[in-house]
Amino acid sequence: MNTSANAGLRQRAIGAGLDWLGASGLPALAAPLTRGRGAILMFHHVRPWTGGAFAPNRGLEITPEFLDLAITTVRARGFEIITLDAAMDSLSRRKPEGPPFCVLTFDDGYRDNLVHALPVLRRRQAPFTLYITTGFAERTARLWWIELEAALRALNRVGFIAGGGQAVIPSDTDAKKTKLFNKLYWHLRAQPEDVLLAAAEELTDQAGIDRRALVENLCMDWDEIGEFALEPLCTIGVHTLTHPRLAKHPLDFARKELAESRAIIEARIGRPAAHLAWPVGDPTSAGPREFALARDLGFASAATTRKGMVFGGHAGHPMALPRLSVNGGYQTKAALEVLLSGAPFWLRNLGRRLDVN
Ligand SMILES: [Zn+2]
Repeated sequence: MNTSANAGLRQRAIGAGLDWLGASGLPALAAPLTRGRGAILMFHHVRPWTGGAFAPNRGLEITPEFLDLAITTVRARGFEIITLDAAMDSLSRRKPEGPPFCVLTFDDGYRDNLVHALPVLRRRQAPFTLYITTGFAERTARLWWIELEAALRALNRVGFIAGGGQAVIPSDTDAKKTKLFNKLYWHLRAQPEDVLLAAAEELTDQAGIDRRALVENLCMDWDEIGEFALEPLCTIGVHTLTHPRLAKHPLDFARKELAESRAIIEARIGRPAAHLAWPVGDPTSAGPREFALARDLGFASAATTRKGMVFGGHAGHPMALPRLSVNGGYQTKAALEVLLSGAPFWLRNLGRRLDVN
């Protein structure tokens, strides 16, 4: 997952910025320079929108209609949607052959991917990769960002132990809930995993939320994942045992998370699972140590949540592939076209193509 927790204003600003950039015509002009060899799109939930004003994880979900429009847009912009294996193969060639590639990826293993995304992907004959966290399928890992959302939705006041005393913060309106979620989310993202999980446990306990039921309601079990294993369009990839931010853990822990989840998935689906996506996937969750580890373990690729296009230079850094997050906060054709041009990342990175350390 890659929560865009700064909802609301920031998202609207980004959306407006993308619209302006698109209207300027610059991205289309610059595309040959900025687009690179292709793009890897990142999705999480795909389902009809039923949320309300308090929707702090909204960035992580799009509608089935927008998935369909995204496929149309990608193809109309001249990208060929291909499998991850084919993309890595294409990247390994010195010179690009044919059109730029686009790889569609779905993280975590949500049931809505089966119910709402798969029919669209089949109808459009679009190959894709599904990254599975085995602990979600087995109901032993925790969706802590969903736990925080569920707890704050339920609670009208939140108790904290702070400075040796008890503090109570009101969370009785959607605006207060959103503000508190964002504050908590980014505070906890900077903490060690056990602190983060303990805080989410404390809040869900206050709200009387069943943490396991959240996983059961949202994530596929092995029978459901088995339907994807039979789907020729689908590549099943690895997304660890428990979805930890690996860089915050000892090396042995990280090795076990990668190697064991891969072995479990391969035993379940009966074929190799050579591709990996880093949980959370930002530089504080997966860095040079993790990239070296994945290489040592023989993975064929690993996708980050670092934003950007895939360039020829990434052939030398296949464990640090960038992705474009298709953000539910701005589901428009224009915004996606700007992302696909590569121009925003080119501008932000001042022409630097690789972000791999
Ligand atoms: Zn994830």
